[in-house]
Amino acid sequence: MLEQLERLVQEAQEALQSANDDQALSEWRSSYLGRKGKATEAVKALGSLPREERPAYGRRVNEIKRTLEDAYEAKAEALKKQAQVQALVVDQVDVSLPGRPPRPGRLHPATRTLREIYDIFAEMGFQVYRSRDVETDDLNFTLLNMPPHHPARDMWDTFYTVTPGVILRTHTSPGQIRAMRQYYPEPIRVILPGMCYRYEQITARSEIMFNQVEGLAVGKDITMADLKGTIVDFARRIFGAGREVRFRASHFPFTEPSAEVDMDCILCDGAGCRVCKYTGWLEIMGCGMVHPVVLENGGYDPEQYSGFAFGMGPERIAMLKHGIEDIRYFWGNDLRFLEQFG
Ligand SMILES: [Zn+2]
Repeated sequence: MLEQLERLVQEAQEALQSANDDQALSEWRSSYLGRKGKATEAVKALGSLPREERPAYGRRVNEIKRTLEDAYEAKAEALKKQAQVQALVVDQVDVSLPGRPPRPGRLHPATRTLREIYDIFAEMGFQVYRSRDVETDDLNFTLLNMPPHHPARDMWDTFYTVTPGVILRTHTSPGQIRAMRQYYPEPIRVILPGMCYRYEQITARSEIMFNQVEGLAVGKDITMADLKGTIVDFARRIFGAGREVRFRASHFPFTEPSAEVDMDCILCDGAGCRVCKYTGWLEIMGCGMVHPVVLENGGYDPEQYSGFAFGMGPERIAMLKHGIEDIRYFWGNDLRFLEQFG
């Protein structure tokens, strides 16, 4: 029996020598050390030996089993090292190759337009005032002179949260109330930029989320002439010095009087083209004198104070400036579009 053991250990060691990959090694392990492996069987055979042979056999068979287990571990380790060395050779880094230059990032076209707008208004003394995207129904509608059931609310359907009265803002105008309440009784010159949300069909002309920039000036003796001067100056700075601007009477619940602002079409210089629908004019923003109710809701006495407000869409301005035909490109994350704005 002992001779058989010696033969077994010799055979096993030779077989292990020639097991040179993971698969061969794992086959070796199961054929010698597995549940039905030869070494395991040899240990089990102890029980069937005559009593006097058991001590010597037992000692030797356990020694052998441990030897084979150690040999297996050593071989597994050696194979692993070998694979690592090989990987280093195969994946060697050729340091003489030219590097891959990291591609510089760039600003999103909407951000670029926003910053251009900030710069222009900063020179006119307006500071940026940011307020939250998630607003209360009160600030988004009611305090802006749109009580519940006001028909204008239909134009600005939005996304409602599960908390009653908490919504995603449909315009940056709630910031007007916040700014007035913060600065009262000081005069105010702020622009309110940020993302707005509306529940709308997504088309080439309308998105469910978009940036808006509003402006608000409040003080004593502010008149419609100040409003017109500010807007004409802005239009000429962003679209070019010779631009014509006209004001068309309109209606918004939060301003009185209200106007739409048109500029002569930058594509056809007012001659008429597809973009301006052959009118020669492009609508660029809405504006008006702050409604007395809104001034009051902000804490300013409309008998003593007056103000003007305006609002525009930076994406629409970018579309006009760069001839972008579809507003969906802005949030479509298509690099072919984004990379055009260096
Ligand atoms: Zn035109």
